[in-house]
Amino acid sequence: MTIMWKRKRSSDIFCKFLCKKNSKPFVMEDKIRNYINGQWIDSRGQASLDVVNPATGKRMAEVPAGSKEDVKFAAEKAHIACSSWQNTPATQRIQYLFKMKRILEENEYEIAEICTNECGKTIAESRAEILRAIENIEVACGIPKLMQGGFSENITTGIDEFFIRQPLGTGACISPFNFPIMIPFWFMPYAIACGNTYIVKPSEKVPMTMTRIFELFEELNLPPGVLNLVHGGKETVDAILEHPFIQAISFVGSTAVAKYIYQTGASHGKRVQAQGGAKNPVVVMPDAELETAVKIITDSAFGCAGQRCLAASVVILVGQTDKELVDRIIRSALEKKVGYGLSDSVDMGPVISKQSKARIETLIERGIQGGATMLLDGRGIKVRDCEDGYFIGPTILGNVNPDSEIYKTEIFGPVLSILHADTLEEAISLINNSLYGNSACIFTRSGAAARKFRHETMVGNIGVNIGIAAPMAFFPFSGWKESFYGDLHGQSLHALEFYTQTKVVIERWHEAWTRKF
Ligand code: NAD
Repeated sequence: MTIMWKRKRSSDIFCKFLCKKNSKPFVMEDKIRNYINGQWIDSRGQASLDVVNPATGKRMAEVPAGSKEDVKFAAEKAHIACSSWQNTPATQRIQYLFKMKRILEENEYEIAEICTNECGKTIAESRAEILRAIENIEVACGIPKLMQGGFSENITTGIDEFFIRQPLGTGACISPFNFPIMIPFWFMPYAIACGNTYIVKPSEKVPMTMTRIFELFEELNLPPGVLNLVHGGKETVDAILEHPFIQAISFVGSTAVAKYIYQTGASHGKRVQAQGGAKNPVVVMPDAELETAVKIITDSAFGCAGQRCLAASVVILVGQTDKELVDRIIRSALEKKVGYGLSDSVDMGPVISKQSKARIETLIERGIQGGATMLLDGRGIKVRDCEDGYFIGPTILGNVNPDSEIYKTEIFGPVLSILHADTLEEAISLINNSLYGNSACIFTRSGAAARKFRHETMVGNIGVNIGIAAPMAFFPFSGWKESFYGDLHGQSLHALEFYTQTKVVIERWHEAWTRKF
């Protein structure tokens, strides 16, 4: 069965969000600048790239393509700021974080709207990002306690040993397009609370949101050089990887680039954590509660237009082919209203770019040629008043072969593949044979099945009757295999460990040496 998408009416797509409470209309400068040492400055590079609204295909601004000189300048200023920032007590450093939290809360609507305009996701999805960013700030506010060392008295008579945590110096994060707000906050609040200075490099596809956040953060009055923003693409990233003043790099993006970042950063002696791509399976057991499973699976697969590193992209039905479940998933997907994310009634926005749309459509076509059955075809969808937007409707493929390209490749779009496994063991083995290991979920009413799945599945984030196993900020954002290169992940205690180094001190203080008073 093939269902072609028919558009429901989507009229109220334009900026009514501007009228919501606390939202001040904000006009981004056409030419986006870097923020270095407390000042907005033009990039020293000559080239620039267009920032395009994926819902309309219209150019919104121009971002620097990047330059070595920009990174050099930012790294030097961040390096100079290190010494006094490290000597600022942690209890004082976190006062800036409390203010950051307030600024994000007070400007939530405005930030979310910019994010939706440049990234395409719905306004609710943009707001959810802000909540997770705030949650990370809140956890990082515990740094004075979390950063404490440990002390052992009399390791031998008269000798004590202890360790303290010290910051590394300057850190940097390089982030992807799909979470312009949240992802830098997996790292930055921890890094600066621990006494590091920092450089944020947003994706060149979505530079406006972080630029606006930095404008709002000017109110923090952080010492110059503590927090810097540098834009650009590969040239900027390469300069970050090479610069001797940058000690630690947090990366999130596709696997090929993650591997490159990890290897190149490490070869320059840096500490690196690099989160890569994903292909997340959802196993549905014959005893699953279908209503819950269907809703959660479609939300997971088609939320953020499938451009989430934890999105369900494969459903593995265990046991008897359950036609009812597949029909229900299709019906649920058909209810998703596709359109401009600023409209409250829209469930799913566009994909990020024309190139991304073409790539996804090619993969779908190759999947069909490879033997998959088209169950719901989202290609060719038209959104009224957004004819030039990069929309693809929810797409569902059945009978997907686990050896096929469509099964193995990260599609990063609203495409769900369905296949069958005879047993839970077979489903787990399919998952464990995948290159990726970001997350896997199971739907079942059996504690034993859930327990086996949790124990044996080789991925970093597990969901049981959950569709997006996204860790709260007080847990690490795990990821295994080709979904992660490094040792310590983002968020929570992992971020604290990553952005500090331990110093062990052994001290001898003989009484005989001490002057008697
Ligand atoms: P991307 O790898 O294209 O870009 C990520 C960052 O790397 C950007 O800042 C970009 O400027 C830079 N970059 C791109 N190509 C580069 C190159 N050749 N050399 C040096 N730097 C380069 O990723 P994207 O398309 O922006 O984001 C989508 C990807 O991110 C997906 O694969 C998704 O799974 C992944 N992702 C992973 C997680 C996770 O936690 N594992 C979270 C979000 C997104």
